[in-house]
Amino acid sequence: MANTIDKKLAARVSRVMDLVRDMAAKEDKANGTYTVSNRIDAISLHFDGYGEPGYTVGKSGIIAAGNWNSVTQYDKVTKRQETISTLPERLSDILTKLGVECEWSDEWRACDDCGVLLRVEADSHWWTPAYHDDGGASAEFVCLSCHGDDVGEEEDECDDVGYDSEEPTSPDDCREVYSKPQQ
Ligand SMILES: [Zn+2]
Repeated sequence: MANTIDKKLAARVSRVMDLVRDMAAKEDKANGTYTVSNRIDAISLHFDGYGEPGYTVGKSGIIAAGNWNSVTQYDKVTKRQETISTLPERLSDILTKLGVECEWSDEWRACDDCGVLLRVEADSHWWTPAYHDDGGASAEFVCLSCHGDDVGEEEDECDDVGYDSEEPTSPDDCREVYSKPQQ
């Protein structure tokens, strides 16, 4: 499933991001902080669509993931969290108007292999992960289809190669496995 990108729009989005980064730098300078810039810099743009069942990217083909809440800071005088910037919220409004899908970065993560965006936080009782979860044993984060034709099946494929199959799906992997001294 190829994702089509509106190139003109992608250029506009990139200009908006540049502008907002400048605004964030100015706000930080006035506040004597880096927090606004850090928040804007942490926003990531995704061009490979969703890997999550039930989600389709809009015409723009672009998804932005970030923390869109206003930036707050503890104020020693008022002893409260005070809003120091509404820039993330305003940016999300602009991006949404441009046709970019805005997602929360703590709920989504991109597949390490193909880049599709996957939900990592349940949004309903019947939600099941569309990514491979090996309980943290591997540092790799991949969608189910990347996992399916990747090293995850290595052992089974090698068993096949060693015994009956003529065409190994991943010859190098198998050679490596079989060349190891077995004890
Ligand atoms: Zn993938």
